Amino acid sequence: MRLTSFISVLVVVMVGIAAFTIGHRNGTSGRDVGLIRSAMTAEEEPISATENFTRTGAVKDNDLFYYPGTEDLDPDEMRVTACGSGMPIPRMSQAAPCFLVELGNGDKFIFDIGTGATERLMSLQIPLDYINKVFIGHLHMDHMGDLPAFFLYGPQNGRITPLQVWGPGGGGSPAEWGMKTSMDHMQKTWAWMQDTLVGTIDTRAFELRVTEFDWSKVNNVIYNENGVVIRTIPAIHFEQSVSFILEWNGLKLAYSSDTVPNKWWAEHTKGADLSIHECFFTAPMFLKWYRFTPQEALNASTLIHTSAEMFGKIMAITQPKHAVAFHFSNDPDTLPLIVDAVRKTYSGPVDFAKDFMVWNVTKDGTRTRLGVANPNRYPLPPMGEKKMAEATDRYETPEWVTQGLEPDVLPVIQAIYDDFNEEYGTTIPNPLNR
Ligand SMILES: [Zn+2]
Ligand SMILES: [Zn+2]
Repeated sequence: MRLTSFISVLVVVMVGIAAFTIGHRNGTSGRDVGLIRSAMTAEEEPISATENFTRTGAVKDNDLFYYPGTEDLDPDEMRVTACGSGMPIPRMSQAAPCFLVELGNGDKFIFDIGTGATERLMSLQIPLDYINKVFIGHLHMDHMGDLPAFFLYGPQNGRITPLQVWGPGGGGSPAEWGMKTSMDHMQKTWAWMQDTLVGTIDTRAFELRVTEFDWSKVNNVIYNENGVVIRTIPAIHFEQSVSFILEWNGLKLAYSSDTVPNKWWAEHTKGADLSIHECFFTAPMFLKWYRFTPQEALNASTLIHTSAEMFGKIMAITQPKHAVAFHFSNDPDTLPLIVDAVRKTYSGPVDFAKDFMVWNVTKDGTRTRLGVANPNRYPLPPMGEKKMAEATDRYETPEWVTQGLEPDVLPVIQAIYDDFNEEYGTTIPNPLNR
């Protein structure tokens, strides 16, 4: 392992340990923290101190960390990964909201794709052809800011299938606010990038399939395929915002996106196996860390979002089997305050999300771990054969531009072609040698 990779992995591990330690010290639910669960297991059936450890062998006890790409998903299992858990302003340690859901039947879904989420998704070692379904809860930058990046980097990084996007519209809101208009404009914004790559790479993945659903409908089925049903309920977050409920194989996942706790969530997410709900800074925390005015602090934490105390209350009302709090800066100084606020109103199992936290959900319960990301990953190959555009459709740079090539560089380019063809047994001509 290169030194830089080693240091990056070490940093992720250290941050993870710090997060668990803080959670433990401040009364995080005993059931939801991997470290504590290991301790409980150890009490029940003591394991030999030497069984898992030799001088040269790999450590078999992998209770605390998840290494992406190294574990099979059980046919009955759901795996959820936080690819963005932070506040609206992205930062190195936490991207804006994004959750990847992987099911044992092979289906994968992305819920929200906030700014900074693409690099997290790319680090999970999943071919992009397998993650081409994105569900957007509302059109704030912190919930779809990385959609252009995820869409436009796709063809360059092995996705050859269209990107499918679901998002809200209709319901009495202006048509120009809706998902269809937004995606139409996104493609227009990036027209130059898309058009000039035709013929240089396989650009079939620049096809965007958009499904706009009526955000105002309650428990509205927007996806029903392969045993997976996804519904939406309205969210209280200005207007044209929704929360999602995914059901598959007897498991129920609820994801709030942004909302104030509401009657639809209370009615339709009761007893969910995994209930992921926003848990914003409390009003005093906005005063301290964001230097908001008192009115701004109260507005943000109670009228547009769910402050930590309100998160606790809605979890107490809905009693999920396992709760996840996200959308706050999870730092050593903020986490204890969030935990204390949640515990005023809720005593059930809950995890306080960080990026790369992973939940393995089965009918037997939820296992929480921290994922260890590889920060230096390369893209994976497409799942089918690459296909270039037909010669007539290809884009060509105008000849007067290519003729501006510095003549002394031409022999260097020719040598690159000659050496390459010899090394790899190809006969690709140098198009600049005219
Ligand atoms: Zn929002
Ligand atoms: Zn948000």
